[in-house]
Amino acid sequence: MAHADLENIARTLRRFPFPKKFAVELCAECNLACSMCHHPNMKRPKGVMPFELWKKCADEIAATAPDTECWFSFCGEPLLEPALLFRCLSYGRSVGLQSLNVNTNGMLLTPELDDALLDSGVHLVVFGIDGFSKQSFEKYRVKANRDVVYANAERLLARRDARGLPVAIQTQFIVMDDNASEVDAYKAHWLERNAVVKVRRQLSWGGKFDTGLAITPENRIPCPWAITMMHVFWDGRIPRCPGDTEGEEGEGNAWHASLSDLWARLGGYRDLHLARSFDALPERCKTCTDWMTGAAERVRPESGAVPLEPVCSRA
Ligand code: SF4
Ligand code: SF4
Repeated sequence: MAHADLENIARTLRRFPFPKKFAVELCAECNLACSMCHHPNMKRPKGVMPFELWKKCADEIAATAPDTECWFSFCGEPLLEPALLFRCLSYGRSVGLQSLNVNTNGMLLTPELDDALLDSGVHLVVFGIDGFSKQSFEKYRVKANRDVVYANAERLLARRDARGLPVAIQTQFIVMDDNASEVDAYKAHWLERNAVVKVRRQLSWGGKFDTGLAITPENRIPCPWAITMMHVFWDGRIPRCPGDTEGEEGEGNAWHASLSDLWARLGGYRDLHLARSFDALPERCKTCTDWMTGAAERVRPESGAVPLEPVCSRA
């Protein structure tokens, strides 16, 4: 990403009293083993978030900043627990949360779940679909079937449009070596089906993966993930940032403290980022390139009739 684009992102960053985005690890299991994801090697215990923990978080978010983007999920596939997911979304809607978003790999969506998802209160569904050809898709999305995922996302789009529902649906394409040549065909395919297409760079997950992006002192900006986003594991633990997938540098537990308090406890790291004191940050930040991947390209269908994600989720 060009230096000017990075600095444009940096200009949006400041001390926020409460996270702008909140990632909820509804379930730490996954049915896939994607080659660019830390999940297949994740060592920490896996489990399912109790509804009461989400309720506690949702109540605080609703009372403090209901426009916070809430994202299901973090390290895991939320459609492994469809009943819990729909209950959590429905509860979020009932307390007035304005940006309820689901990230899914799309393999487990069935015709029986389509309406339940569309009616759950969700504002935006993002399908992680990193390839147009079967070959490239299944190289990266290990254990997935390209034709099943395409059919599931296409069916949800058609169902949404047939019912005229205001649910935004995106297909997200992570650009990597063996799928980069497919971006144009991918965009044409999904735009024709009324999806918003999101194209972004690969994450390093806290420096665990080589993304090919070069870190230079001149280019470096404060990390948008650290400054805007808070994550909660299924068991309530709060990692320092999305790169801290094992929770080695985290701070406290959402069962025992308010989100505001936990956010404040991580404030020292955010201050170091904002002061551009990068040498004082934890080691992980020195090899991580994820501060460069905060922005994504979004392409919308020309018809203009497509439901858009909530205003607060468009950054
Ligand atoms: S589906 Fe998501 S969580 Fe699961 S392995 Fe792939 S990228 Fe990771
Ligand atoms: S740069 Fe640092 S704070 Fe940002 S995601 Fe990477 S490890 Fe986390």
